[in-house]
Amino acid sequence: MRRKLVIGNLKMNGSITANQKLFAGVMAGVADLRNADYALCVPYPYLCQAQSLMQGSNVAWGAQNLCANEDAALTGAVSPAMLVDYGCTYVIVGHSERRIQLHETDDTAATRFNAALNAGLTPVFCMGESKEERESDWTEYVVGRQLDSIIRRYGAELLTKAVLAYEPLWAVGTDIPATPEQAQEVHHFIRKRVARCNAEVAENVRILYGGSVQTENAPALFAMPDIDGALVGRCSLEAKAFVGICQAANQV
Ligand code: PEP
Repeated sequence: MRRKLVIGNLKMNGSITANQKLFAGVMAGVADLRNADYALCVPYPYLCQAQSLMQGSNVAWGAQNLCANEDAALTGAVSPAMLVDYGCTYVIVGHSERRIQLHETDDTAATRFNAALNAGLTPVFCMGESKEERESDWTEYVVGRQLDSIIRRYGAELLTKAVLAYEPLWAVGTDIPATPEQAQEVHHFIRKRVARCNAEVAENVRILYGGSVQTENAPALFAMPDIDGALVGRCSLEAKAFVGICQAANQV
């Protein structure tokens, strides 16, 4: 039985003052929710704050990216070891906003995925198709290619220490979530593709759905057999909304 997992992606939002309120609200809201796992992925400058305020609680924290390179001569980069220093559990890898706006590729995402694992972090590997790709019936081709970019290089076994996230681009930040059936179809495809390499890993790997998840639509999404939780953008900026999604995960 896979435990549900809800991860907030704060993106480039927050301030020391706003985070204090958000972290306190989330910690208080999920303190008694013991049936699922919860985390917030914060911007780098707030990792220290996340560590000092959330350690000892049942909310884990993480980052939204990492550099695959341990070489110290790389201005502006943050290494996997630095994330470990700040107690991160998770790190998001290959988010569509980085793939599109910062030109990250399957190759660079795969390298970061591996670097995270080597450092003992849990990568949350994002995959998803654009609206045009879905309309052209390319969803499985695109998601399959993204998944294969890690499986072909590093093998399916490493997925036992990772989390996968299906985030259709047309649903991220749009208020047009995938229906539970649409999401389930792709999650099932992902699990089947992992199962081709290793059935046991496929059974255990957690596959999160991301894209306009809210308190209202979370229960129906979480009721789907292959949806193991959510990666949440906007609704992670407000404790009440995020806790509502966590409560739905806790109840399944
Ligand atoms: C995201 O960016 O990962 C995301 C899912 O955003 P939102 O929940 O705002 O659609």
